[in-house]
Amino acid sequence: MRLPLVTPSGPPGPWTRPSRFDRNLIVIGGGAAGLVSAYIAAAVKAKVTLVEKGRMGGDCLNYGCVPSKALIRAARAAEDVRQAGAYGIGAGKPKVAFDKVMARVRDVIARIEPHDSVERYEGLGVEVLQGHARLVDPWTVEVTLKDGGTQRLTSRAIVLATGAAPVIPPVRGIDNVHPLTSDSLWDAMDGRRHPPARLVVLGGGPIGCELSQAFQRLGSQVTQVEMEHRLLVREDPEVSAHVETVLTRQGVRVLTGSRAEGFGVEHGEKWIEVADAAGTRRIGFDEIVVATGRAARTEGFGLEELGIAAGKVIETDAYLETLHPSIFVAGDAAGPYQFTHAAAHQAWFAAVNALFGGLKRFRANYRALPAVTFTDPEVARVGMTEAEARDAAIGVDVTRYNLAELDRAIVDGAADGFVKVLTRRGGDRIVGATIVGPHAGELLAEFTLAMKHGIGLNKLLGTVHAYPTLAEANKYAAGAWRRANVNPTLLSLLERFHSWRRG
Ligand SMILES: Cc1cc2nc3c(=O)[nH]c(=O)nc-3n(C[C@H](O)[C@H](O)[C@H](O)COP(=O)(O)OP(=O)(O)OC[C@H]3O[C@@H](n4cnc5c(N)ncnc54)[C@H](O)[C@@H]3O)c2cc1C
Repeated sequence: MRLPLVTPSGPPGPWTRPSRFDRNLIVIGGGAAGLVSAYIAAAVKAKVTLVEKGRMGGDCLNYGCVPSKALIRAARAAEDVRQAGAYGIGAGKPKVAFDKVMARVRDVIARIEPHDSVERYEGLGVEVLQGHARLVDPWTVEVTLKDGGTQRLTSRAIVLATGAAPVIPPVRGIDNVHPLTSDSLWDAMDGRRHPPARLVVLGGGPIGCELSQAFQRLGSQVTQVEMEHRLLVREDPEVSAHVETVLTRQGVRVLTGSRAEGFGVEHGEKWIEVADAAGTRRIGFDEIVVATGRAARTEGFGLEELGIAAGKVIETDAYLETLHPSIFVAGDAAGPYQFTHAAAHQAWFAAVNALFGGLKRFRANYRALPAVTFTDPEVARVGMTEAEARDAAIGVDVTRYNLAELDRAIVDGAADGFVKVLTRRGGDRIVGATIVGPHAGELLAEFTLAMKHGIGLNKLLGTVHAYPTLAEANKYAAGAWRRANVNPTLLSLLERFHSWRRG
């Protein structure tokens, strides 16, 4: 007999909790969040099934981090050819074989693919099903298998790691110009001998800035349109200004404070209508990439039927649990941070809470979560910006060190950027660090470690950094903080001590 379920820890619903389950965990989605959730479950000997409807590895491997970073690497090679004259090497206009650039992008994906493959995960003890998963009730998942047939599975817990998809803003006429997104861009560019001659990039966030610079360097004339008054709005204004200056210097036409009002095609030419403070104008283009944000995939897998609310993300509590105590969410689907490392980080909380929540639960913690924009120079940050510290009413001291002073940066001809550290007023505890510069993403790791483990700037300053490295910038930033925070009484005492020692 099926009884309506009412449990003290769950919402009422017309579902019967099975008396036994054939699995401990079902994970829906084989991107970063799903793979790590499944791996953790298998590592602790739980019986776990991972269901992926598309390509294993999800967005990061197939449409996101990996292809974009491979494209950026090729774009840097082109820029190196352009800038070689500065090092006494014959420079010139790079000859970009765009089809070969895209072939390398494909090759890079293929070389990383085995890390996320069905074979690898089965070898780790995860059962992998390739098909579309749908929630039937809080413990049952129906899988429509790719090679035909359906399978019903029951599990004590489920992790939704279903990711996010690009959002196309509802601007008049946008469908008529067939906008590309990060999902469609790679296939659309594959095999082309030339990059689009005139490319519009809609959006001034990290993805928009990375793609704008890469395509400009590979030979497109890029127009980047952003309705906010600056690029990278989550960063401090000086960071936005720095990136805008660099992009503009490299030829990108950056239009901030500019809203896309409409799209159309006239005499075979596509156009975008852009409105800014000066009025409205039309700009012709050949291709457009929309990078205006990504929202959780929410349709077609049973969320509504189970009453799970979802908008830009699927709603969870601090433990990544939905209103159903058996269903958890991780990664882009849970948000708010749309990074691969955030997805992997959340996966630990979702999997552990799903498997052991009855014994102990862990709140997902994002305090030392790094974020990197892979423009050149890179923008890397951990912790708060100045504006965030101000909003949170946290008094901070701001210390800045310019790469123009750093020997290694001068040697490399890359002395363009800075390290900025926010410390709690009067102490050396790091509240946030931003680095703009070459390899900023790598350099940030030291600050991330420091923040995570409560290591202050004094300890960073007391750590030997090899010469000449870019990492010395972190130590010099700590030194600048130290100099600004020296106790004047102590200094005058020292002066008197040394004067006394001279006799
Ligand atoms: C252009 C671009 C560049 C990026 N660069 C970076 C970067 O440099 N660094 C970084 O950290 N992040 C980057 N990101 C973000 C990163 O790709 C995502 O944060 C990450 O992929 C999120 O992983 P996920 O597992 O949450 O979701 P996804 O990778 O999207 O995986 C979700 C998976 O679930 C599957 N799925 C969905 N519904 C079902 C269903 N019903 N049944 C079965 N399977 C289902 C999907 O097919 C998909 O494979 C970038 C993103 C883009 C678009």
